[in-house]
Amino acid sequence: MPTTQNKDYYGLLGVKNTATPDEIRKAFRKLARKYHPDVNPGDKKAEEKFKEISEANDVLSDEKKRKVYDQVGFYSDQIDPATAEAYARQQAAGGRPPVDFDGFDFSGFQGGFGGPGQPAGAPAGAGSASWGSFKDIFSGIFTGAQQPQRPRGPQPGTDLEYQATVDFWTGIRGGQARIQVNRQETCPTCHGQAHTGGPTQCPECNGTGQVTQMGGRMKFNIPCPRCNGSGRTSNDCATCQGEGVVNRTETVEFRMKPGTRDGQRIRLQGKGNAGLNGGAPGDLFVIVRTGTHPVFTRVGDDINLTVPITIAEATLGSKVDVPTIDGRAQLKIPPGTQSGQKLRMRERGVENAQRPDQRGDQIVTVEVVVPTLQDERSKEIMREFAKLNGQDPRVALFDKM
Ligand SMILES: [Zn+2]
Ligand SMILES: [Zn+2]
Repeated sequence: MPTTQNKDYYGLLGVKNTATPDEIRKAFRKLARKYHPDVNPGDKKAEEKFKEISEANDVLSDEKKRKVYDQVGFYSDQIDPATAEAYARQQAAGGRPPVDFDGFDFSGFQGGFGGPGQPAGAPAGAGSASWGSFKDIFSGIFTGAQQPQRPRGPQPGTDLEYQATVDFWTGIRGGQARIQVNRQETCPTCHGQAHTGGPTQCPECNGTGQVTQMGGRMKFNIPCPRCNGSGRTSNDCATCQGEGVVNRTETVEFRMKPGTRDGQRIRLQGKGNAGLNGGAPGDLFVIVRTGTHPVFTRVGDDINLTVPITIAEATLGSKVDVPTIDGRAQLKIPPGTQSGQKLRMRERGVENAQRPDQRGDQIVTVEVVVPTLQDERSKEIMREFAKLNGQDPRVALFDKM
């Protein structure tokens, strides 16, 4: 059976093996802040590092676990403290065969020091030598089994938010719009299962569910860390690297109602990121940005525009053609209309997106255009007009002084 690698918990946390619980706690917190998956989204290396330091902390922060680790060079829930104690004593005494190793399989035991043909009482230095190899081989072996597995239950997909810029008229009249979206989609190869084919034999333990660890003269059978002792693993899907989802840039078409306003949020149900393990997909939220127009200014459902009129139209009153979002319409200018005056054209504005039976108004700001008189006849008329209408428009200003 194959063996796995060693891990130095103290080294991982960057502390001496004489570190106090407080020093260990501080070292772990410092590293955890750096490597936490929330701080490094999508960073596999950081995630791996975080698992390692968590595992080191799990063992070293627990007095009992740490003692076992210190004694035998690795930690497993399968080792009871008495066994570890016995092992440590045995090592200190010079590498005699252990006395009571409950739960361990010695079937593979083969003579090392003190084996057949060797005198009882191992050569000097045997203890430290076997200690070294023991530590190298064992430490960290159980960590695979302790690592948290990815939750297998359904997980809903996350929502997405994108901005879509449409022209002035699309906002007013509604219609189809499209947007480029980068979203996670259910993997087409494995259909979100994250693996292909049925379970296969675990390559780590060759399907036995157990791996053997040699330590000095002992052989330990432990549950395979890769398959958690089941003997079977799934093949990660090559398309999605076992994620169950793939990133895809997609053009999403959506319908806008007439009267859609700038800044309006449109929810496209199920168009967000795909869920995992059958979880529902998230939603896509589109924030609409509507364009401007050289003549019309939209304010909510109202349309504002400025319309120039002549002095004659302003003083005598008239009917003038003005543009509306539906085309030309007639606007009545009352006699005596002032420049800057606002005239309301009811229900000539934009249809309300929520209540299509309602429309906004068009608000016309009148701008009286003063003519530049060229001919003598016009000037004469204007002088005559001034004589007939001698009111001083500035009287009010002086009244208030
Ligand atoms: Zn896949
Ligand atoms: Zn296995």
